[in-house]
Amino acid sequence: MDAQQFRYAAHEMIDFIIDYLENIRSRRVLPTVQPGYIRDMIPAAAPELGEPWQVIFQDIERVIMPGVTHWHSPHFHAYFPTGNSWPAILADILSDAIGCIGFSWIASPACTDLEVVMMDWLGQLLGLPSQFLACSGGTGGGVIQGTASEATLVALLAAKAKAISRLKSIDSDVDESQIVGRLLAYSSDQSHSSVERAGILAGVRVRLLPSDELFSLRGETLKLAMEEDRAKGFIPFFVTATLGTTPSCAFDDLSEIGPVCHQFENIWLHVDAAYAGSAFICDEYRHHLNGLELADSFNFNPHKWLLVNFDCSAMWLKNANDVVDAFNVDPLYLKHDRQGQAPDYRHWQIPLGRRFRSLKLWFVMRSYGAEGLRAHIRQQIKLACEFHQLVAKDDRFEVPVPPAMGLVCFRMKGENNLNETLLKRINDAGRIHMVPAKLRGQFILRLAVCSRYTESRDIVFAWQELRSHANFLMGQQQLL
Ligand SMILES: *Cc1c(COP(=O)(O)O)cnc(C)c1O
Repeated sequence: MDAQQFRYAAHEMIDFIIDYLENIRSRRVLPTVQPGYIRDMIPAAAPELGEPWQVIFQDIERVIMPGVTHWHSPHFHAYFPTGNSWPAILADILSDAIGCIGFSWIASPACTDLEVVMMDWLGQLLGLPSQFLACSGGTGGGVIQGTASEATLVALLAAKAKAISRLKSIDSDVDESQIVGRLLAYSSDQSHSSVERAGILAGVRVRLLPSDELFSLRGETLKLAMEEDRAKGFIPFFVTATLGTTPSCAFDDLSEIGPVCHQFENIWLHVDAAYAGSAFICDEYRHHLNGLELADSFNFNPHKWLLVNFDCSAMWLKNANDVVDAFNVDPLYLKHDRQGQAPDYRHWQIPLGRRFRSLKLWFVMRSYGAEGLRAHIRQQIKLACEFHQLVAKDDRFEVPVPPAMGLVCFRMKGENNLNETLLKRINDAGRIHMVPAKLRGQFILRLAVCSRYTESRDIVFAWQELRSHANFLMGQQQLL
């Protein structure tokens, strides 16, 4: 493909993606293909001779689309949303063309400098305490990680290195492996699986603490656990608080947890707000951040709910040196003469290489403006409320926890297997897509408002779809 052919193909591709997204409502949200389906549709080996673009282009609809789960369909209500917007797509195109690997400042100054400023912009939109922002002139700052899972792991590894070096400075004879064996991290039983996984990857124990009746981790629970574990000889050193849990979008009580961590001293508090963090751009949800001033790191995913395409996970550190000290290795080929004047983001993350992801934040924040972004969040929460009202009016259903943000958790009154059957019928029909969760042994259905295309009529559609399957199941039960 030469530049002229690219120009033509690129225009055609842009038309294709506009038509794809604008008409996505009419596609079956969940595909029906079987694992390995592509093997039968394409040759067993790469072609020896290059093929014309037109032939390749036609295979998108033939080979790929039948196997796509349409995450941006307004009938997609599974998991949590993943962001998508025109300005973010434009940014990714540009990022691909620049194609830099921004591991150090000199490796592409714009890549680093824009990221520093965008993380300040975004942090200000959320009203983060100023210690987290680079523009405050202190030790804080933001970095774009690939995912929330990486952010948790980075925070945990930095906390571990910090704890080890602190304990060694107290007693230089102590064996490092002995320290590690006594380190203990905490989160709630509702936290994301990536927290437990970070513990496995970092080689430290994680204790999952019980949440309260609204699935929130409370300060007192944490305090008692840490006291108990200290008395047993463990060294509590890390806590992950979740704002917006994955099963039910519950909020750990940061205003209680922050002071407990502060009181215990030398506890790294990491806050995972992967999904719900986007809502903190709206004043009315910012109270969940009370206590954040006592945290060490905070993370949320603009790539979930803030109209930024995957991947873009925003992480702020109160003291970036903690991470840099933990991960710093400085081979000669990566050194440059401006070191220390700007972050070398390779020290803030696990991989060396990194994409120019801040372009997505720049384009999205400028195109929508803070007002446009807030309108998006509020609209999606309003749609979730509309769905909640429909469910609440039908007395065959119950809502075990209040709806939160764009998520409604509900179930049919009765046995778990009735609800399992209901969900299976819904997903088999493929007109809408949802995933379940378990809350204290109860099987529940989760409806998340995901797509930026979702409108009231899609909420009504989802409810009618649900009701028709519920009607069928009730009819069946009566026959038995
Ligand atoms: C989605 C989610 C994650 C994982 O996000 P990734 O960016 O895919 O790693 C972590 N924590 C919570 C609370 C989430 O909702």
